[in-house]
Amino acid sequence: MIRTPPPDAAEQVRFLRNIQRLLEETRTTSTYKFALLLALADLSVERGADSGAALPLKTRWVAAKFAAYYWQQTLPFETASGLHVLRQNTDRKPRVLKYLAQARKQGASLTDVLGDARLLKRIQRAVCEMPLPRLQRIGKTSFEFLYGEPEDSEHVELRPGAAFCFRRFHGLIRDLVQGAWVRFVRELNAECLGARVDLAEFLFGSRRSDLAAARRALEEVEGSRCFYCRREIPPVRLHLDHFVPRSRYPVDLGHNLVLSDRACNSLKADRLPAIPHLRRWVDRNTVLAPRLEQSFARHGVSRDLDITLRVACWAYTETEAAEGLTWERAQVMVPLESGWRALLNRYGST
Ligand SMILES: [Zn+2]
Repeated sequence: MIRTPPPDAAEQVRFLRNIQRLLEETRTTSTYKFALLLALADLSVERGADSGAALPLKTRWVAAKFAAYYWQQTLPFETASGLHVLRQNTDRKPRVLKYLAQARKQGASLTDVLGDARLLKRIQRAVCEMPLPRLQRIGKTSFEFLYGEPEDSEHVELRPGAAFCFRRFHGLIRDLVQGAWVRFVRELNAECLGARVDLAEFLFGSRRSDLAAARRALEEVEGSRCFYCRREIPPVRLHLDHFVPRSRYPVDLGHNLVLSDRACNSLKADRLPAIPHLRRWVDRNTVLAPRLEQSFARHGVSRDLDITLRVACWAYTETEAAEGLTWERAQVMVPLESGWRALLNRYGST
């Protein structure tokens, strides 16, 4: 197979300009457009590779992303005038939100929703009817730089170069899209929102209840030891740390989480851990896989080891490309040595 070369610098800039045009020029009646762009960017990180190749995606995966993004947003938000479920549209309530609100009423958790094939199918249908054919239309012109017309409702294929750009500029694109999403929701709900500043955190932050469950699950398997400095810590002083920092890519999946003491947690902050930590983390997730799986299942923690490792591979690839530093301990930052590839490489290029 011939490897498709990545897009050159001029093509990458054109891609970013096109994303900007989509956000600025297309008329929006709901937040679907933002959810779809985020889903394509996230799936490029989770399923793509660092070549310029086209990336075939299942619309079922896009539907699962919609469920995950909107789940939190079906909860009421506390405003000056009481609790409100925020509006996400100028006309009728988007179907995806209606389905999720129903599931919530019946007591489902997000894990239940993601495991409910019938519900996902309905969301998938909504995605295929609404945002997928409309995203790339500006007025009457079609502007198909992300994907061509889907052949059937099960698949959509990102054009050559698109997944590469989504991966390379993931943080930038995520901030652009989430920023536009927050502004849109703020305008729609101006009356009840007032000057609340934590709207973005509500729309896109981690779900605290999920993190509490993950913490209990990890304690059961690993005891109460700091993952980074290996010291024994009284359980009440344990913190939950995102191994691949949430600021790089928001993976709240169980395998991306580790227990740490307060010092290591705040010193590591938004940095990627150095190779010795990476080796221990890959070991933990593979050697302890069966026990972790049991414990995550018992506590209802979302998990996907393959995707977690692929995201880690992407994060280290990007750090290497940027000649970035990794966190070893305390204030010590070290260059990323090439040894990381041996640990993660098989998750990088498919
Ligand atoms: Zn520590």
